[in-house]
Amino acid sequence: MVNYDCIIIGSGPAGLGAAFYLLDKKPDLKVLILESGKTSSGGLRNDCKMNFTYPIGFPSENWNKDEADFYLEKVIEKLKPEILEKNNLSTYQMRAEKLGVNLINIKQTHLGTDGGLFLIKKLIKELQDLGVTIALEETMLSVDSDKKIIKTDKREIGFKAIMIAPGRKGFRFIQSVMDSLGVNYMDHIIDIGIRVETRVEHYPIVKDYYDPKFMFPEKVRTFCTNSGDAHVVQEKYKTVHDEVYYSVNGHAYSKEREANGLTNFAMLKTVRFTAPLASGQQFAVNLGLQAMLMGGGRPLMQRVGDFRLGKRSKESTFNGDLYDFKPTLAGSCPGDISLAMPSKIMRNIWKSMKLLDTIVPGILHPSTIMYYPEIKLYANKPEFLDRHFRVKDTVFFAGDGAGTSRGITAAWASGIRAAEGMLEVILL
Ligand SMILES: Cc1cc2nc3c(=O)[nH]c(=O)nc-3n(C[C@H](O)[C@H](O)[C@H](O)COP(=O)(O)OP(=O)(O)OC[C@H]3O[C@@H](n4cnc5c(N)ncnc54)[C@H](O)[C@@H]3O)c2cc1C
Repeated sequence: MVNYDCIIIGSGPAGLGAAFYLLDKKPDLKVLILESGKTSSGGLRNDCKMNFTYPIGFPSENWNKDEADFYLEKVIEKLKPEILEKNNLSTYQMRAEKLGVNLINIKQTHLGTDGGLFLIKKLIKELQDLGVTIALEETMLSVDSDKKIIKTDKREIGFKAIMIAPGRKGFRFIQSVMDSLGVNYMDHIIDIGIRVETRVEHYPIVKDYYDPKFMFPEKVRTFCTNSGDAHVVQEKYKTVHDEVYYSVNGHAYSKEREANGLTNFAMLKTVRFTAPLASGQQFAVNLGLQAMLMGGGRPLMQRVGDFRLGKRSKESTFNGDLYDFKPTLAGSCPGDISLAMPSKIMRNIWKSMKLLDTIVPGILHPSTIMYYPEIKLYANKPEFLDRHFRVKDTVFFAGDGAGTSRGITAAWASGIRAAEGMLEVILL
């Protein structure tokens, strides 16, 4: 059996952040990154828009501003981002404030999906040059923390310390690890909402501020805005019974590509459950399945013009006249999202859309499309043993799947924080 000093599960930003930190502090460490995908590196492949200001991406359960700022400095040092300029910010902020809405000023950069790929290749090459072993298309199945062994779908591997960062898609996997290690956790928070797609002329703020972060009352916020060559996409999820549902998402290519004149962003509502509901994930899965039922196995889409009139959208709604641009996620099913979404969530999101339309007039143009569902399953809340996200003996977690981050930069920061803990335990 082969042995490593440190095993890192997942080659997303959390995994990369940890690997660079470990090798920087102790260049002779034997480090393995295990990745179930064909290529590295998780969510860095999508859009790659990075936010460098607290609290974006940093769940308050695990981070305060000082901690986040401390680790963000290290992320900036490594990634050397070119921060995007903003214009007319105070005008938008003044309009927002009058309505009880907060527009946060965030340091941002945007590489685009193609730019992200370029960055990944560069980072992976650097890690390989530093001596890290990267095993692709190999999936971790379980861990024995006493024997310090993991089982993968190909072999057994020994470790001194391990960090598990399987991302949002690994939400269920990380729960199975916690069950086997006897780690207590809650997953009582979810983000659920819609993806809005419209012409840039109906949401021109994106020319002034690439990914404007509006915080509305009732825990609704804008999230992950894309423009340039911008597309709505779908992510596939499976339930424990192998039923399939999709969540929508969005991304854009770098500014080298020709713009398609469209922009998209999510309007998400955070829902926090208390007893007797035990699992936010189960709630979200049910909503995903309900949407698939309504959409014949596809996400739903509805024009704002139809929604306002209380009508479902039909194939014919997606042609001509006022409904004038083609949806980029053309495979979605024209329908009525208000039949699939719980009314409280729908009401809060629609109210926020109206507030947004007052701050940036245009977003409620009849042609604007609302896609549903957009679901974020990153709210696992394990009981950590220390500030390095240690869950048992020499087993650490990081990234979105463990609920320690909600974005690229925070995932990277959480990887560094976990790696500090790994070094402490192996150097004991
Ligand atoms: C379409 C899309 C667009 C996005 N756009 C942005 C954006 O612009 N800006 C932003 O900040 N965030 C964005 N995000 C979110 C961002 O990708 C995540 O916040 C971030 O990647 C989380 O990092 P992570 O390291 O925790 O997990 P991930 O990046 O998801 O990496 C986890 C890796 O672990 C691997 N893995 C899972 N289970 C196992 C296992 N059992 N064994 C081995 N390997 C395993 C997975 O294959 C994956 O590669 C986007 C996400 C999507 C899907």
